[in-house]
Amino acid sequence: MPAKTIIEPFRIKSVEPIRWTTRVQREQLLEAAYYNLFLLPAEDVLIDLLTDSGTGAMSTHQWAAIMEGDESYAGSRSFDHFKNSIQDIFGYRHVIPTHQGRAAERILFGVACKKGDVVPNNTHFDTTRANIEFVGAEAVDLVIEEGKHPASTHPFKGNMDVAALESLIERVGRERIPLVMLTVTNNSGGGQPVSMENVRQVSTVCRRHSIPLYFDACRFAENAWFIKLREKGYELKTPKEVAQEMFRYGDGCTMSAKKDGMANIGGFLCTNNDLLAQQEKDLLILTEGYPTYGGLAGRDLEAIAVGVQESLEEDYLRYRIASTAYLGNHIASQGVPIVQPPGGHAIYLDARAFLPHIPPDQFPGVALACELYLEGGIRSVEIGALMFANAAKMDLVRLAIPRRVYTQSHIDYVVEVILEVWKNRGNIPGMKLTYEAPFLRHFTAHLEPARVAVAG
Ligand SMILES: *Cc1c(COP(=O)(O)O)cnc(C)c1O
Repeated sequence: MPAKTIIEPFRIKSVEPIRWTTRVQREQLLEAAYYNLFLLPAEDVLIDLLTDSGTGAMSTHQWAAIMEGDESYAGSRSFDHFKNSIQDIFGYRHVIPTHQGRAAERILFGVACKKGDVVPNNTHFDTTRANIEFVGAEAVDLVIEEGKHPASTHPFKGNMDVAALESLIERVGRERIPLVMLTVTNNSGGGQPVSMENVRQVSTVCRRHSIPLYFDACRFAENAWFIKLREKGYELKTPKEVAQEMFRYGDGCTMSAKKDGMANIGGFLCTNNDLLAQQEKDLLILTEGYPTYGGLAGRDLEAIAVGVQESLEEDYLRYRIASTAYLGNHIASQGVPIVQPPGGHAIYLDARAFLPHIPPDQFPGVALACELYLEGGIRSVEIGALMFANAAKMDLVRLAIPRRVYTQSHIDYVVEVILEVWKNRGNIPGMKLTYEAPFLRHFTAHLEPARVAVAG
């Protein structure tokens, strides 16, 4: 290819209008939403970077496949398409459809885990941790030290600390560890990848102790692309070959098809264990549905069957990872503090460094997210003191990029808005809570700007 510019590898066939609001309108909307962006009507958001989950655009091939959906209750043709496509990449013997990722987690941990067990992971995603704790087991995060420091530029900050895994197994005993998980990419750790070498090492430890290894595979394709870009020996492999090799080191996976499944809903659970699969399917019938649909319509199964393959296309991944890095690098080069290096699906602003005048108990992440909305109609999400209360180690604002939805000019606009807010950061007030629910309070909390302290 002669030109260096990385372009969107698609043209647009159907468009969805987005709506401008004035600053005065946004001030009123924000006040009416109690300064909680979850409570805003999506229609009043110009660029929505709340999440990359289920918010992607489907391709013409996916829409065409949807018309082929077979809605038979049992034994539908769409299930065969789904299963064959997933097995082609993941290689596991049993493929169990679920309505989204957390349903796969609930079923896996409901069957494989019991009270007193311990489940290690690089970093547990919040629903994964909650489902493990729900059965009375303990979720332990073992990400490498570099993964805990926003400024560290280690190429695989999602790696698991293998020595820490060995000592955990030694300390609690193999019998209490029903499985080990690896989250690829490491969402809660900033969308950072796990190297193939680390997968291999973790797998070796697991096999030595006869402990099954499961992947939380939500962003497996983005992880495969980072391995191809950054790890020696993988330059000439296709992303699919990389993904296939990675999954061979494991025994199963959970997956949210709302991420690298390129679908708006869906998920699945895979395993090579026949006995476990039988128990999982029994539980599936109880709450999700018959094992050939698992809570999904036939057309959803078709969209996922096509989507998981599309997520591995090189042109798509090159554009996907470049556009996330483009956003991160353009703001970082102007001094905006972000979690380095840019991850696969999102850029994380370091709100404590961005707003050093706002103490953590005045929610600098919420203050920054509100300001991005006021300035430019951009919706992001706070990951910090509001979400995790006293357990928050950082105050971050996540800008998650939906798949195939926004073009480079949208991203240029986001850069411009962030830089404008950066320029005026000294005037941004802290926030205070006026209402909170007893758990998962960030979804429903009410806040208001804290009184501006007058100097002197
Ligand atoms: C989104 C996500 C899940 C949960 O999937 P849902 O489809 O939202 O239920 C689990 N793990 C990771 C790493 C995720 O990003």
